[in-house]
Amino acid sequence: IEKVRQNTNSDRVVFSFEFFPPKTEDGVDNLFDRMDRMVAHNPSFCDITWGAGGSTADLTLEIANKMQNIICVETMMHLTCTNMPVEKIDHALRTIKSNGIQNVLALRGDPPHGQDKFVQIEGGFACALDLVKHIRSTYGDYFGITVAGYPEGHPDVIGPNGVASNEAYQSDLLYLKKKVDAGADLIITQLFYDTDIFLKFVNDCRQIGINCPIVPGIMPINNYKGFLRMTGFCKTKIPAEITAALEPIKDNEEAVKAYGIHLGTEMCKKILAHGIKTLHLYTLNMEKSALAILMNLGLIEESKISRSLPWRRPTNIFRV
Ligand code: FAD
Repeated sequence: IEKVRQNTNSDRVVFSFEFFPPKTEDGVDNLFDRMDRMVAHNPSFCDITWGAGGSTADLTLEIANKMQNIICVETMMHLTCTNMPVEKIDHALRTIKSNGIQNVLALRGDPPHGQDKFVQIEGGFACALDLVKHIRSTYGDYFGITVAGYPEGHPDVIGPNGVASNEAYQSDLLYLKKKVDAGADLIITQLFYDTDIFLKFVNDCRQIGINCPIVPGIMPINNYKGFLRMTGFCKTKIPAEITAALEPIKDNEEAVKAYGIHLGTEMCKKILAHGIKTLHLYTLNMEKSALAILMNLGLIEESKISRSLPWRRPTNIFRV
């Protein structure tokens, strides 16, 4: 039985790291070096995203395989329904199964580039719920399944005033419950910067009988423009005090990073103080801020932050 399920139910605080497939071969090599250093801190798992519209399918499969079998970390692969007929979905699932990967983050995915709305392709799935049902009915209990949760509501239901109506929020929650009832073991949330919104979301989930672990997705602020782009895309609420703190330092990258570490640490402290024992860090393929936050929280030791030469991957084992 896969370790992610056990790890996220443990009594101690556990953390995980998300990465995305880099665009260049050098970027991929650098990512493995970085992952290797980060895995030394014992994350409960690491996950690799599925590029929008399936754009990185082959690379995601290759990276996931190396994460599981060379970096040797419990690996979760993201998988979306966008542009994916069921045969392609099964190809991806059979590939990771044959590579010993037992964890999938089952997603609907965003609409393909240039389209406003998600459209179900012929022979494909309409939503993450369909994908969860398919994975459970076809692969039994082999996979641990994670799904996405949206503390502020999915961006599609967030109105021009920046918030979801209560009705839309409630219907999102009921839909999330369907994903869990269909077999999801774990929820990872969309990024947020208002911790109270996350804590309310957890409470609201519990009220309607969603009992699985709900893991907060924490994205350290690394860069002001990137922060605005990401929060704009996800329609994330930015609390006034964060805007006020960033405005005077927005052109000073080092100061923004330092603030991001401070803010991430304070957010995590508050979350942990409410009895939540899991943290998921959206690393954006960078290690410093994520590790600094974990060090501030006393979850990793500074002496273990590697200053040694980067790890070198064995040559050509997987590359043809
Ligand atoms: P779903 O769970 O299917 O639903 C999205 C929303 O649509 C729901 O909140 C609900 O309001 C509505 N909805 C859908 N079906 C129904 C229904 N039957 N009944 C009622 N309401 C319904 N995208 C990528 O392309 N690649 C990634 O690797 C990736 N990783 C992600 C990781 C996390 C943790 C998160 C939070 C998001 C990630 N995304 C990724 C983005 C994600 O694909 C988008 O947010 C997408 O728009 C929705 O995917 P979903 O799985 O949440 O969709």
